Amino acid sequence: MASQRSVNVGGVQIGGGAPVVVQTMTKTETANLQATMDQIRRVAEAGADIVRVAVPREKDIEALKTIVVESPIPVIADIHFNHTLALKAIDAGAHCIRLNPGNIGGPDKVAEVAARARAAGTPMRIGVNSGSLPKHLAELEFENPVEALVTAGVEFVELMERLDFTDFKVSIKSTNVPNTIAANRLLSERIPYPLHLGITEAGTKWSGSLKSAVGLGTLLADGIGDTIRISLSTFHAEEEVKVAWEILKALKLRERGPVLIACPTCGRLQFDMDSVVAEVERRLEAYDDPIEVSVLGCAVNGIGEARHADFGITGAKDMGMIYSKGEPIKKVATEQLVDELFIEIDKYYAAGRTV
Ligand code: SF4
Repeated sequence: MASQRSVNVGGVQIGGGAPVVVQTMTKTETANLQATMDQIRRVAEAGADIVRVAVPREKDIEALKTIVVESPIPVIADIHFNHTLALKAIDAGAHCIRLNPGNIGGPDKVAEVAARARAAGTPMRIGVNSGSLPKHLAELEFENPVEALVTAGVEFVELMERLDFTDFKVSIKSTNVPNTIAANRLLSERIPYPLHLGITEAGTKWSGSLKSAVGLGTLLADGIGDTIRISLSTFHAEEEVKVAWEILKALKLRERGPVLIACPTCGRLQFDMDSVVAEVERRLEAYDDPIEVSVLGCAVNGIGEARHADFGITGAKDMGMIYSKGEPIKKVATEQLVDELFIEIDKYYAAGRTV
């Protein structure tokens, strides 16, 4: 179920019925200010609502002071092992602190960070990954890894509540997709706090995107999850943001930019559809509206799809038909299909119409 509570990360509401928030994490050394700011600007441009930066060293704190001021989107400081860095990150103005209360040096240190965060009005993300469960749950992890994850999450929540700190979101992440789904379903029934979803160490762009789409998509379709991060082994954090958006768009949870519908092709295809789809996708990047464009290889499904889409192409041998708002408007030679499609799209916008 959707979280009842919400947190506000630098002006971005997470939970409490707000749209699912897209986040990512920079892959640069945070202290390398130029590289980190370049990457933050790229992920913001790609649609990240908030961004996380790793803060493992003192010099990262120095950079963080500038980053929180210059970043176009709110910044979360990711801290492990060293509670002093957490205190300093709060003082540096981080919009949120990510903390694993199990690895920060004991309850006293967690209490100190919670007190500083409360005084500063800084929210936190608390939680645990399957690889860093508390030691006392080792046996349970062996017997029931889902229950172990949920227990760790609930124990951390109860610890924070005892400290009178409730301004947080929670994440329990696993590399195992079914476990992530089962654990978050259970956790969402046990706590009212916003949930951060992710498949930890998901893998490469290809396999990691699919694992994340299956795991996060299943939960999001059930209304579980308030913010998502796609973890991919790529140096381009903006790729993670693009995948996150595709998941949210596929589930109709949020809209951003055009939606391209294209058939998989089959033996009925009689033109070079690969190049046509690639070119349509490339040119659509220049449009901000959630315009729907279909490219279908033949008339079998092409006419029906074109009726639903805002614009469409149905191919045939040497010629293709262009549709606008469900109406066939032009038959053109295959090599002119893309140009003519975009002439129609631009005409539509020039007439002041919107999707
Ligand atoms: Fe095949 Fe036509 Fe369907 Fe494309 S639209 S997959 S070419 S039948």
